[in-house]
Amino acid sequence: MFNVETIRQDFPILSRKVNGKPLVYFDNAATSQTPKQVIKAIVDYYSNYNANIHRGVHTLSQEATDLYEQARQKIQSHFNAKFSHEIIFTSGTTHGINLVANGFSSLLKKADEIIVSALEHHSNIVPWQMLCERTGATLKVIPMNEDGELIMTDYDKLLSKHTKLVFVNHVSNALGTVNPIEYIIEKAHQFGAAVLIDGAQSSPHIKPDVQKLDVDFYVASAHKMCGPTGVGMLYGKEEWLKKLPPYQGGGEMIAEVTFEKTSYADLPHKFEAGTPNIAGGITFGAALDYMNAIGFENIATYEHELLSYATEQLSAIKGLKIYGTSAQKTSVISFNLKGIHPYDVGTILDKLGIAVRTGHHCAQPIMDFYKIPGTVRASLAFYNTKAEIDALVEGVKKAKMMLS
Ligand code: PMP
Repeated sequence: MFNVETIRQDFPILSRKVNGKPLVYFDNAATSQTPKQVIKAIVDYYSNYNANIHRGVHTLSQEATDLYEQARQKIQSHFNAKFSHEIIFTSGTTHGINLVANGFSSLLKKADEIIVSALEHHSNIVPWQMLCERTGATLKVIPMNEDGELIMTDYDKLLSKHTKLVFVNHVSNALGTVNPIEYIIEKAHQFGAAVLIDGAQSSPHIKPDVQKLDVDFYVASAHKMCGPTGVGMLYGKEEWLKKLPPYQGGGEMIAEVTFEKTSYADLPHKFEAGTPNIAGGITFGAALDYMNAIGFENIATYEHELLSYATEQLSAIKGLKIYGTSAQKTSVISFNLKGIHPYDVGTILDKLGIAVRTGHHCAQPIMDFYKIPGTVRASLAFYNTKAEIDALVEGVKKAKMMLS
């Protein structure tokens, strides 16, 4: 049974005050808050198991290795990968994307084309631009419409025998639009192109099945899913991970090293050079356990209710415009008050203890499309409440009054 008041007790930070007011945390798309179950797992690791993994014969090292590999299996099972070696631990979504982009440097040639979308975060634009610079390949962009949706008929026209890769986020961090990734993947495969889905914003709300999606690569960050910062995952189909060269050289990723030649370790270690974020990996697993115990269907239903309520309440404020009005949305509301800079609204909300993000949200092309410098973004999580939305609405009205 989903009970938000019980859930909120798991998050110590939600009972703190900011500027003398109870914290209202609506910056979940930037990073989620951490439940005490995950905090306990971090303390437990450093109190009882802290050791380097995969190389020690001693007990602590073996216990830490077992916990780390169990976490990999939890991630495998959560995303429904076929093999646990298809899960690569990364430092986050950005690292996962760069790992794949770097790997494709040796696989692309000048006539090849890469497709991204107009709704991407900078971390799903810049690495592909760098890849195009290295290889001479061309970057093409699926355009968006006023509602903040990708125009699929234009996507169809961009695809050709030259398309080698398609990169799209599942959910836009700036607008909350849920992109039709099933269609995007199926169409790309008809042209023999590989697809990477950036799941940074979808994974906290939607449980993906990478086998059912038939996606080639999928990336996510633990810190957006109630886990710690500095750790994330890359799923890659075994055949692709075998084809891609390693990203970084170092310890852990080798089979044998001489000064003449080095051979690489098997998957997943080929992509995991150096000592990883061991506590991060293990507690990423704890965060998945926590979210799965609540249940992603329960989370989605509740968040949908919150999103509808917030959209309705904010829309009623005269002069407030919401960007991203697709019917397919998750927990993000991006808006502006007419004639008022988003930063000023964010500053007043902070004085009231309300945390929102203001600016371009690392998605400048979207802001350029709407010809605005940025937005105020309230991003919701399953531990938010309608009362907190009421506080936000009152805060926005106050900001409007003070700044008009
Ligand atoms: N892609 C999207 C859609 C995001 O929202 C973010 C984080 N804001 C990233 C990529 C980058 O994630 P990280 O900073 O955890 O690497």
